[in-house]
Amino acid sequence: MLGKCKVPHIMFKVGAETYSARVTDGPIIFEGAKCVGVCDEAGREILISPTVAPDRRLATLLTELASALMFEIGEPTGRKAICKFVAVVAENMIRDLAACGGEEALRRLMPGERLGRRTGRIGLLRPRYCRCGGMIPAGEILCSPDVEKPDQVKLQMFCEHCRITLSWNELATFGGLPGGVVVGEPKIEEGRTIPECQIAPQRLPQIFAP
Ligand SMILES: [Zn+2]
Repeated sequence: MLGKCKVPHIMFKVGAETYSARVTDGPIIFEGAKCVGVCDEAGREILISPTVAPDRRLATLLTELASALMFEIGEPTGRKAICKFVAVVAENMIRDLAACGGEEALRRLMPGERLGRRTGRIGLLRPRYCRCGGMIPAGEILCSPDVEKPDQVKLQMFCEHCRITLSWNELATFGGLPGGVVVGEPKIEEGRTIPECQIAPQRLPQIFAP
């Protein structure tokens, strides 16, 4: 099947809501003026202009997430409330951004692209083996940071020989790559429970692990 790959978008936690983030196809015009970013509260979306230099996208994302949080919970007043507000925005953003590949992935987004599981994908260089002995090519293994466990990475693969999906966690190296040490027992599910994902060669992850 070469259909559209349904990889969920990473959502940024903003108060009780969640927002997604993408780089727009063209410049953003808001109230007659060009702007670098916009927070679309109605669409729960952060839009970043493709005119923003890749190394300024993080600042734009933070600014718009702060704007979104103010919309959701109101403006903080007083030193203590402002400090707490900054901490909430930063804490959520650091964790959510890490799950989709961090600033590196944000910098790599092409116009029209959205941050998601796919952008957070860590490319593997060697195949893995199923318990049945079947080989799963490196390019078909989904590997991404585990947002709930910052010291671990998640790996998932479908074995077409015995038709099971294997999911497991490995301890991450200092650089956030799978370290080969499996945490707990792998989860085994019958059939394919992960999307069949075809990635165009030019969009392959820039981060590779052996
Ligand atoms: Zn197998």
